[in-house]
Amino acid sequence: MQNTNMPIFDAMVDNFNRQISYLRVSVTDRCDFRCTYCMSENMTFLPRKDLLSLEELARLCSVFIQKGVKKLRLTGGEPLMRKNIMQLVETLSAHLETGALEELTLTTNGSQLHRFAQPLADFGVKRINVSLDTLNADKFAKVTRWGKLEQVLDGIAHALNAGLKVKINAVALKNFNEHEIPAMMQWVHERGMDFTLIETMPLGEVDEDRTDQYLPLSQVRKQLEEKFTLEEISYKTGGPARYLKVHETGGRLGLITPLTHNFCESCNRVRLTCTGTLFMCLGQEDAADLRAVLRSSDDDHVLSQAIDAAIMRKPEGHDFIIDRQHKRPAVSRHMSMTGG
Ligand code: SAM
Ligand code: SF4
Repeated sequence: MQNTNMPIFDAMVDNFNRQISYLRVSVTDRCDFRCTYCMSENMTFLPRKDLLSLEELARLCSVFIQKGVKKLRLTGGEPLMRKNIMQLVETLSAHLETGALEELTLTTNGSQLHRFAQPLADFGVKRINVSLDTLNADKFAKVTRWGKLEQVLDGIAHALNAGLKVKINAVALKNFNEHEIPAMMQWVHERGMDFTLIETMPLGEVDEDRTDQYLPLSQVRKQLEEKFTLEEISYKTGGPARYLKVHETGGRLGLITPLTHNFCESCNRVRLTCTGTLFMCLGQEDAADLRAVLRSSDDDHVLSQAIDAAIMRKPEGHDFIIDRQHKRPAVSRHMSMTGG
């Protein structure tokens, strides 16, 4: 029997000598929420015929794993809204069993966790990220437009009960949650979860003005330092967050600062959409169509070669910028398409 631990295709190393070991897969562009910084209220979603089937997604992911992907994150849209998503989780979990894949994880809005937390844990998922921007039910309804806080809190409780490690991700939003962040961090840490703050990124047209939403994390950090002792630590999860230890709570605080701190030099990841488009950088338009290649041949070597050609085009970095002169998004596609 073939040893699935051994990569059988070439590893992915780009022109800047960065080895790609992290794949994010957006399994759907659809979502049951309409977060104001992520989507407009009237989104047009992709026609279903353009989507890769779960089997096609599994095949593509397997090739990436055989090319050295060690960490795979399912995202979206809302990944748990994709019909029969657990079939894909089950297929991918086989790669965890062989050791070819070290970590299978997902980013979710939490609305379906009451149904899926236990099956995820059963399929070998150890950690998940749940996005939550406020603990105030009215504000939650406002920022997600369609979400219910209670349902998400119930989902988080199910995840913790199932033994999953949970990281809460919050987007820092000016005049929305900036004064709530210290209390939120305390709430998260009291429950043994990690807390990560994200700056808004200029991705896709939304109904609101992004300059009104943007809150630099350098400012949030100063505010937190008035109450808490923050110490930089070397903890890493393979993602772009830098971590601080919060002495008073004993918990960890992650900061993702694409705008104030450029993290491109250590970028180890690429993103695959539900249509089989590979984006080599979240902040650039260039992409490779792997769906056409996948459907043109049953030979995975052909796919591997197409991936290699794409990786060689991975750019050195992004150029996000939000200011009064640049009100348009840096990139026209929404985060829900590429996956966060
Ligand atoms: N629906 C899932 C969720 O909300 O966790 C997964 C997909 S969502 C696109 C992934 C992450 O991207 C979420 O934490 C969300 O807050 C974040 N996000 C969406 N649009 C963003 C933007 N324009 N800037 C920064 N973060 C954004
Ligand atoms: Fe949906 Fe996640 Fe985007 Fe909110 S951030 S609209 S939950 S995809």
